Amino acid sequence: MQITELTASIVAGVARAQALVSWDDADRPPVRLFVEVGAGFREGFAPDPNGFLVAAFLPAWHAGERRVTVEGSLCPVLRDNLGAVTATLQAWYPELGPPPTVSPTHGYEVRRPARGQAVSLLSMGIDSLATLRANQLNLPAAHPASIRAVLLVDLIRGPGLSQDETAHQHRKRLAGAAEIAAESGLDAISVRTNVLDLDGDGWFFTYKWHGAAFASMPYFLSGRFSRAYLAASDHAPPASGWGSHPLLDTHYSCAHMQIEHHGTHMRRFEKVALVAEWPVALRNILVCQGNDSGSANCGACEKCIRTMTALAALGKLGQSRSFARSDVTPELLSTVIEYGMVRSHDVAEYYVEMVEALAERGRTDLATVIRRLADSIDDSTPGADGALTELAAMLPKGASLILVEDGRFHGPVDGVPKARYWGPPSDDATAIRELESLRACGARLLAFRPSSFWWLEHYPRLAEHLVAYERLPDDGRLIAFDLQSAGGRP
Ligand SMILES: [Zn+2]
Repeated sequence: MQITELTASIVAGVARAQALVSWDDADRPPVRLFVEVGAGFREGFAPDPNGFLVAAFLPAWHAGERRVTVEGSLCPVLRDNLGAVTATLQAWYPELGPPPTVSPTHGYEVRRPARGQAVSLLSMGIDSLATLRANQLNLPAAHPASIRAVLLVDLIRGPGLSQDETAHQHRKRLAGAAEIAAESGLDAISVRTNVLDLDGDGWFFTYKWHGAAFASMPYFLSGRFSRAYLAASDHAPPASGWGSHPLLDTHYSCAHMQIEHHGTHMRRFEKVALVAEWPVALRNILVCQGNDSGSANCGACEKCIRTMTALAALGKLGQSRSFARSDVTPELLSTVIEYGMVRSHDVAEYYVEMVEALAERGRTDLATVIRRLADSIDDSTPGADGALTELAAMLPKGASLILVEDGRFHGPVDGVPKARYWGPPSDDATAIRELESLRACGARLLAFRPSSFWWLEHYPRLAEHLVAYERLPDDGRLIAFDLQSAGGRP
C-alpha cells in the first residue's frame, strides 16, 4: 500500500485532508481517502501522515499488503505502538498472517503535542455520553485533559444503511450534540470521511478495525488537540477480540496524540445513571442505530428496551423525550425473551444490574421478567449450531449463506466480504434491499436464528417478500429460505 499525495484544502466552506491510498498486492482500485470538517474548525486541521496510517494500517493488513509506504515522516512512538496492536490482533486472530511493514518516505520524526486540549468521539449513545459527563464532573475546564470539543463522525454510508439513512442518523446526532455543546461551551465538530471505502467488510470493521478508524480522526485536528477519548462499550474488556479495546485503542497513540479508551470502570447501568442525571443528555440519548422513524429511538429493539428499562429503574424514562414510549411494561420487556433478543450472559448481565433498582422503585413486575430472562439464557446454543452445520452442508460449492443473528445480517458466511452489522435494518425497504444485495453476491440460503425470528413479524413486507422463496423444513432451531428457489423474485 502506498499513501501519497497528502493535501489539505478549503473549498466551499469545507476543510478537507486527503491522501491517495493505492494497493500494491491487493487487486483493488485506489481510494482517495478524505476527512472533512467545516472551515470554521480549520484551526489545527492538517493531513497528518500518522492519521492516514492509523486509518489504513489494518485494512492494508486485512488485504494482504506486505508493506505500507507513507509519504512524509511518521512518529516513532506510533511505529512502536502499532507493534503492540499487531501482537494483540495476532493473538486473537492468527489467520491474519504477518502484518505489513511500515516505511515513511521521510523517516521518523517526533512532534510536540499541541496546546493541550482534549476531544472526544461522540455518538450520542450511553457510552460516549457517560465518558463526556464523567470528564466534566472530574476535571476543571482549563485542565489539558478536559474535553473541549466532541467529534461526530459521518461515515457517509454507514454499515447496513443507505446514504440517506446515514445522513439522517448523522443529523439527529448533530442536533443533540449541538444542544449539549451550547450548554457546556464545547465545539461540536462534524467530521465527514469515506474511511469505509478502504474496507467494506462489516465483520472486519466490528471485530478488528473500528477503534482505529475512529482513533484516526482526531489526528487530523492534532494541531489543536493532543488527547482524544474513545468511549468503551464494555465494563470489563471482552476476552475475545473486539475492534475497540483497551489493548488496541491506547496503542493508536503517538507522541503528539494520546488516545484514551475510557469507561471500563463503569457498568452499563452506572453509565445510564450518570447520563440520566444530566438533563440535556437525557433529552438527547440516541441508542437505536437502525431506526429511521420520526422518534429518535424506536422503542422496540433490544437496545432501546434495555435503555428504557434502565431509565425506568432510575425513574427517569418519563423525562426523556428520546423514546417513543414513556413506560416499560412487563409485556414489552418480555419480548426480549420471547424473540430471543438476548443470547449471551454478558448482555443479560446489563439487565440483571437493574434488578435491585427496579425492585426499590416498586417495579417488581419488571424485575421478575429480568430474572426469567437470566434463567432463559443458554449461550451454548448447540442445537442452533448443529442446525447451521446441517444447512451449510446443503450448500453447493462456492455458494454462501446469510445468517440473521442477534438482529443483524451476517454474511454471506463463506463468500465475499459483505457482512452487515450494527443493528437491525431501519425498515422493510432497507431489509429487503440488504437481502437482495447479499443474494446478488451469491448467497444461496437465508437463515434466521431464534434471536432474530422477531424480524418476520417486525418487518411484514420482508416476510411477504420471502414468501416467494422456498422455506426449508425446520424444527425450531433455524428458519431458512432457499434464495435460488423457483419463484424467487429478481
Ligand atoms: Zn430501537
